[in-house]
Amino acid sequence: MVDKVHGMQTTNWHQMAEQVLAGQPLQREQALAILRAPDEELLDILAASFRVRRHFFGMKVQLYFLMNAKSGLCPEDCGYCSQSKVSEAEIPRYNILQRDQLLAGAKAAFERKSSTYCIVISARGPNEREMRAVTEIVPQIKEQFDLKICACLGLLTPDQAERLKACGVDRVNHNLNTSPDYYAKICTTHTYQDRVDTLRAVRNAGMELCSGGILGMGESLEDIVAMAYELRDLGVHSIPLNFLQSIEGTPLQDSDRLDPRYCLKALAMIRMVNPSSELRIAGGREVHLRSMQCMGLYPANSIFVGDYLTTKGQLPEQDYRMIEDMGFTVTREELPEVAGDEFCDSGHASGSSVAGNRMV
Ligand code: SF4
Repeated sequence: MVDKVHGMQTTNWHQMAEQVLAGQPLQREQALAILRAPDEELLDILAASFRVRRHFFGMKVQLYFLMNAKSGLCPEDCGYCSQSKVSEAEIPRYNILQRDQLLAGAKAAFERKSSTYCIVISARGPNEREMRAVTEIVPQIKEQFDLKICACLGLLTPDQAERLKACGVDRVNHNLNTSPDYYAKICTTHTYQDRVDTLRAVRNAGMELCSGGILGMGESLEDIVAMAYELRDLGVHSIPLNFLQSIEGTPLQDSDRLDPRYCLKALAMIRMVNPSSELRIAGGREVHLRSMQCMGLYPANSIFVGDYLTTKGQLPEQDYRMIEDMGFTVTREELPEVAGDEFCDSGHASGSSVAGNRMV
């Protein structure tokens, strides 16, 4: 449509929101238009995405707490990751934490008002020792704390997924990270399809899917849009969107060229493409959204509280203040169901979402 005052060609972002709320999926061209929109339309875009967010999540914000349960020592070569075998970043390197440390993390998660405790290990996939550590600790955590558990353990076999489900894991995080076409540019030791297969195993075991991506790895706008649609087609319940915080010593150490306005448009686009999925502002929030962090809560309904895997977050008190100042409230409530079950091979029911990726 044409703006009568300025004679400019503009998009009616609120009509887009109405389209989505009427159950008519956003078209790819519309998604791209959000990313390409001029900065002066950002506020309208955020307002439109907020209408969708408010419809599904009201004024609630969910918090997630990450525990880096095993750091470094990973044989994979993901270019964004400080824990990979090709990274020279100075990070802590340790094997899977002891029971007491994992329990202490759960306590910290609960005390910080988190709804979900995310247990993350650096690995291509879990070995037997790591599987045992997780499957033994999860029932103990659930006995003591009212927390959902998200496990982020790398690639999983169907059998491993079944064991995680059986011990009480609610969700598994495994990020697509980028588009199918761009994946080989960021990792050569496993494929995009490997990641999809893990999500399939998780879904078939009856757990919720958490999967998202990373902005700022040199991908195109089309790649980000393609990823958003892949997540939608997979029926992902929870989408963490990371903003590459390039870490010295990693192959992508010079890659982050993001500005806060673009990051906000990407959040808005993903909200519009995945209207009822939980959307989390993940790693890089403080670095790339900077003074505009709070604006991200218009499209997104979730953040991590505390530190990320190998980088620092801001103080929890600052997050609570931001949420309160915006008029939002922290919740531990359940999320709406998400469509997309064509992905499920079995008759298992699905539930809802979480957590971080190895960049965070
Ligand atoms: S993202 Fe995961 S699989 Fe890739 S290098 Fe990092 S820890 Fe390993």
